[in-house]
Amino acid sequence: MNAPVAPGLPALLQKSERQSQVVRALQAHLPAHALIWNEEDTTPYECDGLTAYRMRPLVVALPETEAQVAAVLRTCHALGVPVVARGAGTGLSGGAMPDAMGVTLSLAKFNKILKIDVAARTAVVQCGVRNLAISEAAAPFNLYYAPDPSSQIACTIGGNVAENSGGVHCLKYGLTLHNVLRVRGFTAEGEAVEFGGEALDCPGLDLLALVIGSEGMLAVTTEVTVKLVPKPQLARCIMASFDDVRKAGDAVAAVIAAGIIPAGLEMMDKPMTAAVEDFVKAGYDLNAAAILLCESDGTIEEVEEEIGRMTAVLRGCGATAIACSDNEDERLKFWSGRKNAFPASGRISPDYMCLDSTIPRKRLADILLAIQQMEIKYNLRCCNVFHAGDGNLHPLVLFDANDPDELHRCELFGADILETSVAMGGTVSGEHGVGVEKLNSMCVQFTAAENEQMFGVKRAFDPAGLLNPGKVIPTLQRCAEYGKQVVRGGKILPFADLPRF
Ligand SMILES: Cc1cc2nc3c(=O)[nH]c(=O)nc-3n(C[C@H](O)[C@H](O)[C@H](O)COP(=O)(O)OP(=O)(O)OC[C@H]3O[C@@H](n4cnc5c(N)ncnc54)[C@H](O)[C@@H]3O)c2cc1C
Repeated sequence: MNAPVAPGLPALLQKSERQSQVVRALQAHLPAHALIWNEEDTTPYECDGLTAYRMRPLVVALPETEAQVAAVLRTCHALGVPVVARGAGTGLSGGAMPDAMGVTLSLAKFNKILKIDVAARTAVVQCGVRNLAISEAAAPFNLYYAPDPSSQIACTIGGNVAENSGGVHCLKYGLTLHNVLRVRGFTAEGEAVEFGGEALDCPGLDLLALVIGSEGMLAVTTEVTVKLVPKPQLARCIMASFDDVRKAGDAVAAVIAAGIIPAGLEMMDKPMTAAVEDFVKAGYDLNAAAILLCESDGTIEEVEEEIGRMTAVLRGCGATAIACSDNEDERLKFWSGRKNAFPASGRISPDYMCLDSTIPRKRLADILLAIQQMEIKYNLRCCNVFHAGDGNLHPLVLFDANDPDELHRCELFGADILETSVAMGGTVSGEHGVGVEKLNSMCVQFTAAENEQMFGVKRAFDPAGLLNPGKVIPTLQRCAEYGKQVVRGGKILPFADLPRF
């Protein structure tokens, strides 16, 4: 008599056979230490910063040269194996979450700064270089790389390019898109490609803008040329308190409407200031309903003039207290709370989900008040800290991932925030990308025809659909199912349920 076959065993056997096949094929191109596939070794790769969702990859490849990257891609293409590029894994939308039947291509070893050209004010860096490391290398020349995600100590420039990352100073200096001149990489077939060039413009279609923000779906980046900017002579930061969220939101719109582009314009609500103050003691006003941090940088004269104008606008909008940094230590202290907002949230809750949508500045107060109502509806707490000047929200929904019901309510809460943002004239994604997190909400933001056009772009670069499949663009079927479920009462559709591409 045959022994009974445990349910799921054929799939497991299939997976292990496929794993052996892929490992054997890759071993022809990579040294032994550059390939890992044992469960305990691949565990660190099973998620990115969106830790609620995990998947173990079939194999992790850690190439050290471009020739090895090309070989991995060519091999996977020949075998029909999905490839998910990975930088530091700090992404917050599940973009680097592995494919269960795919290779995770870690670019961690591409960590060299190749050239700093002081005359051209550019740096050529490998994709695995940390964002902050570029500014550190440029500092002796009084230059720096402007886009400064709060994760800059860890995240890579390759990840920044893939997500079109932003940061506190992007209001004035632009996003990754505005600070990158050239991207070199490889297609899904392993063919070398370059987008952009060393000059400000390059001939032909502007495919650089297409690749930046494409979340690893069009090509794998290996090398990037970034712009460097001179360090400002002086920077000062205003901290303004408001007794009403609406007044704070309106003040943000008023600063921009006054023709001022601050170097940073950030907002934190009361729950967030309480969490960070307890953590870093930045001197925040704990009685305020919201605080704004408004930075000015430039020459001494420019800063004095702008600080004066911003102070007048903030007073006019009803600020209850205004403090301005008098020296660099004080300025950094003001920012220390903002920069530590995520870890501070980690101290007050077992888990948090950081959402990322945009909203027209004039609707900031409306969305914050709507989020307060959602806290009651979903019975979960939410702290808000965000790039207010850009209208880029980052609600942090606090939950316990060990409680399936809390996770489910958190997903519903998140989808509600994203879709309310769209209803208020905003978008489902600001700077953290779509990944797997926002697939359902993409069905709300875009029509089926628009999503299909995005698939068209993907197919032009990657006809076999092997680079980061199942991310960013929802299928027609997903949208149809999500539509039905929303009608049925707002049930979230798990992203793994439906066929992709
Ligand atoms: C505490 C914290 C604060 C954050 N603050 C900000 C912020 O202020 N602003 C902001 O924009 N983001 C922020 N993020 C999100 C995150 O750091 C950024 O999205 C960052 O750009 C991800 O870089 P990474 O190297 O970690 O990429 P990963 O997470 O490894 O990957 C992100 C995406 O990029 C793709 N990818 C990575 N490398 C490559 C490559 N070489 N070629 C092709 N595709 C690639 C991956 O497939 C994936 O889709 C924050 C995250 C954390 C945890």
